[in-house]
Amino acid sequence: MGLLKRLIIILVLLDNFLSQIVKNYILKPRWKIEGKCKQCGICCEEILLKATPRQLSSKLFMDIAIRWISWLFDFILLRVDYENGYLVWTCKHRCPDGKCGNYFWRPNVCRNYPLLDYFEEPKFLPDCGFRAELR
Ligand code: SF4
Ligand code: SF4
Repeated sequence: MGLLKRLIIILVLLDNFLSQIVKNYILKPRWKIEGKCKQCGICCEEILLKATPRQLSSKLFMDIAIRWISWLFDFILLRVDYENGYLVWTCKHRCPDGKCGNYFWRPNVCRNYPLLDYFEEPKFLPDCGFRAELR
């Protein structure tokens, strides 16, 4: 991995670290995540990144976003889900046994999964080792 990419990831991780402090200690969401990852790797098969209808209809935005995410995260675009508003990706670092081949440098979207939201109950894939509980 190139130096520039590492520097950008470090900045992004720092930003993520600070927002996690807020979420865990200051402004806590209604739900908390319990359980443990089984390392099945199913959540790395298809990674859904949200986009607004306006973003999806902009060729410029899509070109930049796809190049940026492909380069920074080593994700591969599988398809665009226009109906539900997602870019659907898979990842070059997913190993055949489902484990992560880039664990130390994995992006925020992986570190923060399952996503703990302020307004919606967290969602999980079937058989995921995590679950949500109200605080
Ligand atoms: S689906 Fe759940 S248990 Fe499986 S790797 Fe992802 S977070 Fe871990
Ligand atoms: S970087 Fe690792 S955890 Fe993230 S999607 Fe790729 S294989 Fe999964």
